[in-house]
Amino acid sequence: MYQLKTSAAFDSAHFLAGYLGKCANLHGHRWVIEVAAGAETLQSSGEKRGMVIDFGDLKKAVRSLAESYDHALIYEEGSLRPETVQALLSEQFRLIAVPYRPTAENFAKAFYEILEKQQIPVQRVTVYETPENCASYEV
Ligand SMILES: [Zn+2]
Repeated sequence: MYQLKTSAAFDSAHFLAGYLGKCANLHGHRWVIEVAAGAETLQSSGEKRGMVIDFGDLKKAVRSLAESYDHALIYEEGSLRPETVQALLSEQFRLIAVPYRPTAENFAKAFYEILEKQQIPVQRVTVYETPENCASYEV
């Protein structure tokens, strides 16, 4: 099995609604997305011969994924009152509502599925919320 790895980071805020502890409060992380892509065999002909995937294409996909979540408040749908959402939007803050609790585990799975849809031969996505703590998703 051949495997490539690349990573990209984004800075965003979240909170865990219903959590009993300090993560219930709004706070930020420098999230790092580490993606492993792989294949049993390498491409056998053409421009990409000898590659799993063009490193440039992999890096571009992971970087654009990170950018799409950068400098935002990521919150679970329904976890903020509508008037709170309206007030934040009226201040021009960038909000991203996700249909899951915004934990590193759920981000890892969501990012895996996004990359898979872009034809990236993704094997594992690891999301770091601190340099010491990460969660991975792989099938
Ligand atoms: Zn957190």
